Amino acid sequence: MHMLNHAEASEKFIANQERTDWHDDTLWFVRSKRDKASKLLPEWEALREQASQIKEHMLSNLPQYLLEFEAKAQANGVQVHWAKDAHEHNEIVYSIIQKHGDKALVKSKSMLTEECHLNAYLEQKGIDVVDTDLGERIVQFRKEVPSHIVLPAIHLKKEDVGETFHQHLGTPKGNKDPQFLTEAARIHLREKFLGAKVAITGVNFAVAETGEFVVCTNEGNADMGAHLSDVHIACMGIEKIIPKRQDLGVFLRLLARSATGQLITTYSSHFAKPRAGQEMHIVLVDNGRSRQLARDEFRNSLKCIRCAACFNTCPVYRRSGGHSYHQPVAGPIGSILAPNFDKKANVDLPFASTLCGSCSNVCPVKINIHEQLWFWRQDLMKEGLAPAGKVLGMKLMAWMMSNPSVFRLAGGIGRKVMSWFPFLVNNGMNPWFKQREMPASPKQSFQEWYKSNRS
Ligand code: SF4
Repeated sequence: MHMLNHAEASEKFIANQERTDWHDDTLWFVRSKRDKASKLLPEWEALREQASQIKEHMLSNLPQYLLEFEAKAQANGVQVHWAKDAHEHNEIVYSIIQKHGDKALVKSKSMLTEECHLNAYLEQKGIDVVDTDLGERIVQFRKEVPSHIVLPAIHLKKEDVGETFHQHLGTPKGNKDPQFLTEAARIHLREKFLGAKVAITGVNFAVAETGEFVVCTNEGNADMGAHLSDVHIACMGIEKIIPKRQDLGVFLRLLARSATGQLITTYSSHFAKPRAGQEMHIVLVDNGRSRQLARDEFRNSLKCIRCAACFNTCPVYRRSGGHSYHQPVAGPIGSILAPNFDKKANVDLPFASTLCGSCSNVCPVKINIHEQLWFWRQDLMKEGLAPAGKVLGMKLMAWMMSNPSVFRLAGGIGRKVMSWFPFLVNNGMNPWFKQREMPASPKQSFQEWYKSNRS
């Protein structure tokens, strides 16, 4: 089956003009909240720099901090597991569940488990996985994947949620009141929490110095799961390590403000050891991270704290929707991470950007996102992985732009065609103009203008 590339999938998304507009507006609203919240802190830029440097130091000393974390966590009574890839991660999680003979579990938001396709793996083994984050539960009911790492159901309107809950929870048809729907989800999830023996959570930060880890949610669902279950399994990518507890002050302030414009996430829960009678496991997952660490141009991408500020500001993401990226992590950072897993399957993603640099400007850990997208483009072109049409087009463009006389000639012809026969370029067959006004063709090139005006 042909998998739609980003451009093809976006075309489907933008076919609904009204949805495209509110998706764009909603995410811009979140971006604006982030701006306001960040401006309340005079030390914002210093915090970004500090966070970036802490992560830089962590990445340069990753093995040491991972071993320190393991030793401290084990001393706290936590069972630590190592997984080299997604399959091993899934097997480890399954083996823990199997030991307890349970057939259902609750899971709070974890992009790592999305990356490892844990739900599908466990469901195949007959385990009922209940996502407890409200947005994730909505997309799970609809058999969709999250379209945004912080706001998983941002592509849906309250009418869609009302209909989904009507089908799956039996709420009255047509009821789209957010308060009512949230109450319905709460009642439904409360029952699942009370019945589950096993809870899975993600990890936002793991502190090497103490062996503790921090999970941030706005709904308290990670806490409900972890505190009511007999077994807590926390799954984390190895890049989530930070050296010291005091570093949390830097990251927690940046994360909430960058993600939603809140001053602090509603629940920042610290887990250090299992309570009496409980089992606590932590699975440390590589899954391509050491490969990315070894790529000089891309190692910085491992600084990401998954705040999604780069999504909310990206003009391409806002108007193409998260599903068009066909990867669990969409948006600008997803387009850097995805080719690390599979260059050929994700060759389209680094091109899904205007390279405007807005993502790099908002990133709380100062990842040079737009530059890395550009580096990937060069790498993918060199390896000949881009579609033949794009390769040919770029070669032609390079030849034209490196030959001044050809460039002048082409510019002259282009201006004439655009002013004499505008319908040749501005028509329904040309996707570029579907959403744009065509500018009037200038009478002369800049060079011609300069020559005649230089005196
Ligand atoms: S790359 Fe930066 S802005 Fe984007 S999700 Fe990661 S931390 Fe946030």
